[in-house]
Amino acid sequence: MRKGDQDADVRTDPLTGNLTVVVPSRQGRPNLPTDDSCPFCPGGLEAPEGSYDVKWFPNRWPAMGGNRCEMVLYTPEHDKAFWELGTEGVSKVIDLWTERTRVLGARDDVDYVLVFENRGPEVGATIPHPHGQIYAYRDIPPVPLRELTDGVLEVPGGDDPLVVATFGDWTAWVPEAPTWPYELRVATSGPQQALDDPGLDRDGLARVLIDVLARLDQFARGPMPYMMWIHQRPRSPEQFAAQPVHFHICPYYRSPGVPRFVASAELGGGLLFDPVEPRAAAATLREQPGAVPGGATAEPR
Ligand SMILES: [Zn+2]
Ligand SMILES: [Zn+2]
Repeated sequence: MRKGDQDADVRTDPLTGNLTVVVPSRQGRPNLPTDDSCPFCPGGLEAPEGSYDVKWFPNRWPAMGGNRCEMVLYTPEHDKAFWELGTEGVSKVIDLWTERTRVLGARDDVDYVLVFENRGPEVGATIPHPHGQIYAYRDIPPVPLRELTDGVLEVPGGDDPLVVATFGDWTAWVPEAPTWPYELRVATSGPQQALDDPGLDRDGLARVLIDVLARLDQFARGPMPYMMWIHQRPRSPEQFAAQPVHFHICPYYRSPGVPRFVASAELGGGLLFDPVEPRAAAATLREQPGAVPGGATAEPR
């Protein structure tokens, strides 16, 4: 991110080196709709045309100027979980993520497209209707830049005890050193580095997302709050080694109803502490029934 970017007031903390975008305009955004109506339901503020399957629209309260922040509605059904949409419904969301990645990524003033979702009020989702967001950055932001520069993403084999599920080209696993005890990575073993790269196993992706998100809800005995984002190639990837398109899924609970707080020692020391052995976390998630019968889900070991 460049200083002096006209679409964002990006500042660097001289002590920590952290980058912060100062956005006073967002402080006035509503925490919740002022009445009971949902702006994302058909006929609501953001869907006045009525019925839709999936749709995107510009964020009314963008964190950056220049039409860089979009909302994505997953379904017209207010009370559905993403995974409950089934392969057909989830595939429509994947197709829309892909289309927006392509359109936003084709802009001269966009080098990185970040697709993400916050699920649940615990992680700041102010409206329960299933939805996600997209940010289109002028420059590659620090986290994917660090992964692209110094990171190694190895997709484990299907018999690795960290693996939770495999569908087609896609594998979901608990990382060896997670920040969140039931954190998941989901990556393709194919050569695709972005959602809009040709040949992506879209069916496998829909199935693996449905499966692992259902497992998280089953483990949480209710809706698991989570943060999820997709890392894909920058739009000018030439300077980086190939890295497969992948998802990071960060569930907020460490056991049903018990939040995992990132607390003072971890922020102050920079060393995270994980109370669940990652192989045990993977085994627990494998023991949940999942949501895709007949899939090539890893057997409990
Ligand atoms: Zn709604
Ligand atoms: Zn990543």
